[in-house]
Amino acid sequence: MIREDEGKYIINTYGRHAETTPLLVHGRGTRVYDDKGKEYLDFVGGLAVNSLGHCHPAVAQAAKKQLDKLIHTSNLYYTEPQVELARCLVKNTGTARAFFCNSGAEANEAAIKIARKYAKLKSEAQRYEIITAHDSFHGRTMATLTATGQEKFHKGYEPLLPGFRYAKFNDLDSFHAQVGEETCAVMIEPVQGEGGVHVARHDFVKGLRRLCDEQGMLLIFDEVQCGLGRTGKFLAAEHYGVKADIVTLAKALGGGLPIGAMLCVADVAETFSPGDHASTFGGNPVACAAAIAVLTELLKENFLSDAKLRGDYLREGLASLQKLFPEMIKEVRGLGLILGVELEGDGLAVQRGCAERGLLINCIAGRILRFLPPLNVEQSEIDRALAILEKVLGQSAGN
Ligand SMILES: *Cc1c(COP(=O)(O)O)cnc(C)c1O
Repeated sequence: MIREDEGKYIINTYGRHAETTPLLVHGRGTRVYDDKGKEYLDFVGGLAVNSLGHCHPAVAQAAKKQLDKLIHTSNLYYTEPQVELARCLVKNTGTARAFFCNSGAEANEAAIKIARKYAKLKSEAQRYEIITAHDSFHGRTMATLTATGQEKFHKGYEPLLPGFRYAKFNDLDSFHAQVGEETCAVMIEPVQGEGGVHVARHDFVKGLRRLCDEQGMLLIFDEVQCGLGRTGKFLAAEHYGVKADIVTLAKALGGGLPIGAMLCVADVAETFSPGDHASTFGGNPVACAAAIAVLTELLKENFLSDAKLRGDYLREGLASLQKLFPEMIKEVRGLGLILGVELEGDGLAVQRGCAERGLLINCIAGRILRFLPPLNVEQSEIDRALAILEKVLGQSAGN
């Protein structure tokens, strides 16, 4: 009934398949279970949302406690969880202030708006252009869709928002060439997620910071996917020793509850005054209480360094599979626990084969397998995932 009715009542934007897509009913840690009681190892992790695994007790507890206390008030009033969360985020990112919203796209919308307004206040010239990277992903609203440097997402929605230019990721000269009188900011993901798991090079990120400083432009890091411990550091930016002027977060922030944040350095934060931007649900007390619990776990001693070790372990395992199936695996790449395996052939078949054997992984662009397990995934779970993947690849190789 659920499968049939999904096909009947839900607008078809996700391409779920009645025969092959699991119907998930409950989960714990790295494991989720479907309606028939079948267990899966979840290496999709809600697309980088479930960083602490499913239903982490501390997160569930914090949300439940807040549900009985105060679920929502308008942002006209103070609430404790919102301010406490802002304090924690600001302290751990070297920024000055936060704006809360409900998703990654909204966080990036806020970043785009504040960058434009900042430029307007700071300079005489008309500066509103933002340079983003090819293969980037910044969201699905009209502005963030336009910011997204992938044509396939633009098709059918023209005219797009004016004021965006695209440059080649990891190519400083290409960014340099796009800078004009109107440019006010550069926005990148330090690790591109949706676009195929591409890690920014050190000289590129450092060079962008220098370029922005020279030209009086803001540097925006979209860490919606790669932030909050995913790469083994609180922010992916820490790997580069580079500080952005604006950082956006969302996915993992609420442990599964919807929340996004835009963080700014002091100078930029002052751009917005009352009435300049708002969100009814932004900074909702329940989502914030859950987020505080998430951050408390992430900031526990050794949590992030352990995540990095687990990432290294998974990566080594994937590299071994590449040695085993050199004709099938083109490249293994990533940082920490955001890892991609680029295949020579069809990735969807591998994704399906893995699901049949109890492993959920995500295939992007038709042939890149993306791994986003919880940051606290156990070594034995990684071993099992690798064994399943080896079987599936072996079977495909045999065909
Ligand atoms: C997922 C994602 C977004 C969009 O987040 P939503 O919560 O789906 O709006 C933006 N940027 C990056 C890097 C993402 O991975």
